[in-house]
Amino acid sequence: MTHMLKSEDNCEHCNAKKFESEPPGFCCRSGKIHLSTRETPPKLVRLWSSSDANAWHFRANIRYFNGHFSFTSMYCKLDRVTTDVRNCGIYTFCAHGQIYHNIRSFGKEDGHEPGHLELYFYDDDPSLDHRLRKCREKSAQEDREVIQRLKDILHGINHYSENFRSMGQVDNLEDYHVELNLDQRLDQRTYNVPLTSEVAAVWIEGSKRRGQFDNSVVLQGKDRSIHGIRSYHGCYDDLSFLLFFPRGELGWHNCIPKVGVTMAEVNKARAIRKARVDGGGDDDAGSAGNKCVSVRDYYCYKFQMRLGIFNPILYGKRLFQQFAVDTYVKIKSSRLDYIRNNQDILRADLYQGLVDS
Ligand SMILES: [Zn+2]
Repeated sequence: MTHMLKSEDNCEHCNAKKFESEPPGFCCRSGKIHLSTRETPPKLVRLWSSSDANAWHFRANIRYFNGHFSFTSMYCKLDRVTTDVRNCGIYTFCAHGQIYHNIRSFGKEDGHEPGHLELYFYDDDPSLDHRLRKCREKSAQEDREVIQRLKDILHGINHYSENFRSMGQVDNLEDYHVELNLDQRLDQRTYNVPLTSEVAAVWIEGSKRRGQFDNSVVLQGKDRSIHGIRSYHGCYDDLSFLLFFPRGELGWHNCIPKVGVTMAEVNKARAIRKARVDGGGDDDAGSAGNKCVSVRDYYCYKFQMRLGIFNPILYGKRLFQQFAVDTYVKIKSSRLDYIRNNQDILRADLYQGLVDS
């Protein structure tokens, strides 16, 4: 017996394709959430959707290519049994516990080849020597063609790479510092892409450009220190899932107003909360409660199909699975953070006796 889902009208507010029994909270909460969407570069759409040989190779090895171009490295306890298609059939990305996204300083080290962020230093070099050295032996020629295409697509549109290009040609790399802005709070209802100067700054030891951002991470040419990018930083998604966010579009942060809420109202609510939480040492303490889009609502909106809008996330195959798992962990940790930061409202001390007994 076959069960057919009843067809449903698209959401009247955000035009999302609805399936039977899906509640309004699954797309835009009946018009309360609106996020602007930038068009995916047409050449990248071709890699995601066409049937030429490069596009097939790109999609079949999507996690490899994303890893090649991402700025961060991911750490998690991956379940190897479910990713082994020879023994268990369908590939399933299954992680245990937390997922960490780390970014590393770019100091030179003997025997170390440039990776992640450092590869962008050499993107003005026409031979692409550093990038192509990372190709895998078995599929070197196919890898090269796709990497070349991706590099051309990202050239000029990714704001991070614009900051770093040609740093590979300087003699005194150890004097250089890269400051990544962790405090981007763009109102994503209208515009989603920050300016090149807003995402990062590059400066040399002793220069006046240092300390441009309120909350940032500083990488340097002196060492290879590791820094964590936290799930509530707006740049978490675009530093890690570059193929979904090629222009450096921001992901979720806790200051995206709902429809009908002004930025001034959000800032006021944040200031009140920050004062109340005072000195918790956590930079997520200043969220503005129910005036802003929650992390769950944000990603529900992002995962929807909408007629006429190309959504690369839904074409992502194994990278889609990784992104979905990462997002799930992000929603869970945001809920735990809420409980941790709101003990005075939740009054958990009252229940302490229950646990003890
Ligand atoms: Zn909707």
